[in-house]
Amino acid sequence: MPNFKNKKFLYPLIAFAVILLLLAYGYYQNSAKYINYQTYENLLNNAEITSAEVDNSQVIIQTMDGKKYKILKDGINIRKLLDKVPVSITQDSTFLDDLTSGVILFLLMFAFILYFRKKEIQNFQEVEENKNKQNAVEADIFMNTPVKPVISNITFKDVAGIKEVKEELSEIVDFLKNQNKYKDYGIKLPKGVLLIGPPGVGKTLIAKAVAGEANVPFFYQSGSSFVQIYVGIGAKRVRELFAYAKKYAPSIIFIDEIDAVGKARGNYRNDERESTLNQLLSEMDGFEDSSGVIVIAATNKMEVLDEALLRSGRFDRRVFVSLPDKEERAAIINIYLKDKKHNINIKNISDITVGFSGAALSTLVNEAAINALKRGSKVMEESDFYAVRDKVLLGKKKILSFSKNEKEIQALYQAAKALSAYWFGLKFDKVSIISDGIKDIDKEIESKSEMISKIKVYLSGTVVTEIFYQDRYSNSVIDLQKAKDLANLMVEKYAMGNTIYPNKLDASNILENAKNEVQKFLGGYEKVLIKIKDHILEHEIITKEELKKIINEIF
Ligand code: ADP
Repeated sequence: MPNFKNKKFLYPLIAFAVILLLLAYGYYQNSAKYINYQTYENLLNNAEITSAEVDNSQVIIQTMDGKKYKILKDGINIRKLLDKVPVSITQDSTFLDDLTSGVILFLLMFAFILYFRKKEIQNFQEVEENKNKQNAVEADIFMNTPVKPVISNITFKDVAGIKEVKEELSEIVDFLKNQNKYKDYGIKLPKGVLLIGPPGVGKTLIAKAVAGEANVPFFYQSGSSFVQIYVGIGAKRVRELFAYAKKYAPSIIFIDEIDAVGKARGNYRNDERESTLNQLLSEMDGFEDSSGVIVIAATNKMEVLDEALLRSGRFDRRVFVSLPDKEERAAIINIYLKDKKHNINIKNISDITVGFSGAALSTLVNEAAINALKRGSKVMEESDFYAVRDKVLLGKKKILSFSKNEKEIQALYQAAKALSAYWFGLKFDKVSIISDGIKDIDKEIESKSEMISKIKVYLSGTVVTEIFYQDRYSNSVIDLQKAKDLANLMVEKYAMGNTIYPNKLDASNILENAKNEVQKFLGGYEKVLIKIKDHILEHEIITKEELKKIINEIF
């Protein structure tokens, strides 16, 4: 039974009915009445017949009043008829003929229906094909970034240096391994851990190591892969990712470059990113911390992240991963040299690689090995490292490399910051030749004097080079920007200037006053500064404890 609700069947059926009606009408029109011989003779004799048609068996006559009559051919004198009226010959319109035309019509109808049916199938196929194409596109997207867990065989042993990071994360490992222990004590663990640090310092590696140590599946996704051109795909993928991770729980989700999704919603909107971010936030809010899924995310610019991501219950645990210091670099180089024959004093290589990340060190060892091979030697020499160092430096634009003189300036700059940070009560564990490691104040309410202390530390490097070299250097760029930003914020947002209504001069006054105070302070501690600088030059780093010791020794 055709489905009458389906219009594609309805149209041919209507056409079929119309044709049948026309046929019936025609048949009715042609259906002449049989008359007897006498009536025929009368009509002929009275000259009422206007024309006649003769076929195989009968004669159809047309009378003057427009009517048609039939009479059997054999019963009449055709000759006489021919004399009186024009006669034409037609084919016999028998039942068979009607049947034939009926069959033809039926076939035509059949063809008609077939045609429509085929069209319908074609349309259906087209729709299906489009659907398939769409599915294929989506499938492709998922194929490229499959939501598949990997079992990591990396452990903390494979990660050199970053001891504190390992310590912080070992708590997570323990939680993943012994969930019940934590549940019994009602201890809540963070759902999200944010790893913050420059590229190549081993953020992905350490996350994998956490998975490896805890022996749980590891789901890797890059933030940029969430933000697709197809609106909705990112959110869908986030949903899928969490669904899978829960299925495999306990497990670890690692989101690299989370800033691609979690950038603060600025003035311009990006609907796709926003819907992905919202999905991520609601997934994180949606799961209990007892679900056994830990989300580790990595970024190298925390300051651009949307505040919502950093709120409690989301990425509320933050771990800073910095560039390796001298000893850490040696440990990393050691890992990569382990399976190679060499004749190297690792300390020397560590000395020439200030500013190198773990990734850059791994490249350096590899390039040096290639160099040894090119020389035709099976044993790597220090000269292989010197030969390729600049090549690796060029390849990695972001690597800092100081000349001896620059190193001296930078060490002094950092020494001043360390001393100021200590003196003005800022929190820090250590200050290295490249980063200050000063912790942001983790408070809801911050005072004006605390903010001014920060500004003093930001300006210390600039002030110290003026004192020692009567010059200023470009390495101060980031600190100066931070100082200016903070001063503007104080004046414009917190009314910490001279007037409630922001006044540009107020920010400048805050900066100048802070600078004068730092000048006075540092000017009185030249000896201590030189000691701290020398310590940094030698070790590339100084801890708060070491700093304290130097200060106490001098006084
Ligand atoms: P990030 O995620 O911070 O950009 P990765 O974890 O991807 O950095 O590091 C890239 C590569 O650099 C690692 O696969 C590893 O080979 C090497 N690497 C980085 N840091 C370390 C480290 N601390 N110990 C050993 N190898 C490291």
